[in-house]
Amino acid sequence: MTDTYIQTGLTDVPDERGYYGEFGGRFVPETIIPALDELESEYKKAIADPNFHREFAHLQKTYTGRPTPVSYAKRLSEQLGGAQIYFKREDLAHTGAHKINNALGQALLAKRMGKQRIIAETGAGQHGVASATASAMLGLDCIVYMGEVDMERQKPNVFRMKLMGAEVRGVSSGSRTLKDAINEAMRDWVTNVRDTFYLLGSALGPHPYPMMVRDFQSVIGVEARVQIVEMAGRLPDTIIACVGGGSNAIGIFHAFRDDDDVELIGVEAAGYGLDSGKHAARFSDPKVSRLGVLQGTRSYVMQDDDGQIIETHSISAGLDYASVGPEHAYLRSMERAFYTAATDAEALAAFRTLSEMEGIIPALESAHAVAEVIKRAPTMPKDKVILVNLSGRGDKDLDTVIRELGDSL
Ligand SMILES: *Cc1c(COP(=O)(O)O)cnc(C)c1O
Repeated sequence: MTDTYIQTGLTDVPDERGYYGEFGGRFVPETIIPALDELESEYKKAIADPNFHREFAHLQKTYTGRPTPVSYAKRLSEQLGGAQIYFKREDLAHTGAHKINNALGQALLAKRMGKQRIIAETGAGQHGVASATASAMLGLDCIVYMGEVDMERQKPNVFRMKLMGAEVRGVSSGSRTLKDAINEAMRDWVTNVRDTFYLLGSALGPHPYPMMVRDFQSVIGVEARVQIVEMAGRLPDTIIACVGGGSNAIGIFHAFRDDDDVELIGVEAAGYGLDSGKHAARFSDPKVSRLGVLQGTRSYVMQDDDGQIIETHSISAGLDYASVGPEHAYLRSMERAFYTAATDAEALAAFRTLSEMEGIIPALESAHAVAEVIKRAPTMPKDKVILVNLSGRGDKDLDTVIRELGDSL
């Protein structure tokens, strides 16, 4: 198997200023610029240092459990009657999702920079848990900002973070959810920048975060590219991944960027349906899809006619966000990647189908990608190959699914 755990380069984006075409950049208060400059230069030094690669690779193998396998979904492929379906199993990584790849990479970088204090913000708690995990293992202090409403909704994750020694700081301002937690984390960073590392959870935020997160997640595609060739005898025709901020999708897309015959498909959350207005389809709903700035980066942001950020909805917390990573906006503008959406109902149906047909209970986020496979595979000939990134496992979503499906099982 490969020893490449951080794939840099391959493309000419971002440019020196952190732009992916017209997307990306750094839209932050002046006071944060020196911290971003320091982060960028230390990151570049780290990835030029074989020791950093070696330590990261060692932990990915012995702690995270990489490489994660690729599984052939024989029964699902037969039932759908079209393309052959393969899953990249990020659900089998330690903590049950891909987020650990990035959390571990950034925490190692923090340690290398001599920053003992990690701060993170979290909505549903998945990124908080990944940050707390990596911090515990490396002996770093971890503070996670979380809206009080989210803390109430996500008690098990709050408990997990505390168990691993993290301090969870409830945020009581604004709507007491993710965007308020982000504001608090930013405020903390400005105040404590000398000893503090801001560990950002998706391919979002000001440069260099989208690039760094992509590189730390690129291991997904690097592994999958070798594995699918071994198993299917060739590259896939289509790759499908769900898109919240965009980290698992960019992580699997990256290694295939230059393979022009490989079609890249991202799936957003269509919530109650695009017409309902209650969704998180930043690309797919032209009524609310506007260029804007959120959390320090320029990309598509769901906004009303007055430029106000629209409240999003998805059954899956990880896809429930008003903006999307700038590199996805760029890939879409070049028609290198295409984006579609799946509703809550379609994701729930896919959640059941994958559980029944393959014995894999997917995260509700990942179930959006599975929903797209269920639509697409039957339209493709049997000799075609689809590779799906299964970003996480569904144990965390059982309460939601029990509420939704209830007695219908
Ligand atoms: C957080 C999360 C996502 C969405 O985040 P991306 O950055 O878009 O990958 C998807 N799947 C799972 C399992 C998650 O925890």
